[in-house]
Amino acid sequence: MAYAYDTNNIFARILRGEIPCNKVTETTHTLAFHDIAPQAPVHVLVIPKGAYVNADHFALEASEAEIVDFTRTIGQICKEMDLCPGDSGQGYRLIANTGEAGVQEVPHLHVHILGGRVLGRMLQ
Ligand code: IMP
Repeated sequence: MAYAYDTNNIFARILRGEIPCNKVTETTHTLAFHDIAPQAPVHVLVIPKGAYVNADHFALEASEAEIVDFTRTIGQICKEMDLCPGDSGQGYRLIANTGEAGVQEVPHLHVHILGGRVLGRMLQ
């Protein structure tokens, strides 16, 4: 299947520097910034710099370098924000809303990192 990418979505515009963001970190292949409408004390969005619509697009078509960079960046942010339960952190939640059923608003892959409070159960 071919993935159709909308080059004018808001995260593409952030990546092009047309819209500002509150940056957390940036690497070769990845950008992370604070969500504009935070749902928890920590609410960071992590996006690949490449034009990937969603999680399956990224997982199936991104290079290994992009996938490693993206995954490691998520881990590093969790570590730096003291969210990791292996350290002194309380834990966190990763969410990648995908497509219509997943109620994805912005059609550029983004992983939400949520933490800083007990988040409550999502799945029963
Ligand atoms: P989705 O529902 O998983 O697609 O989430 C999109 C997220 O992007 C929401 O949590 C929005 O608050 C967030 N968002 C939308 N526009 C911006 C922006 O310009 N900067 C930062 N976050 C944004």
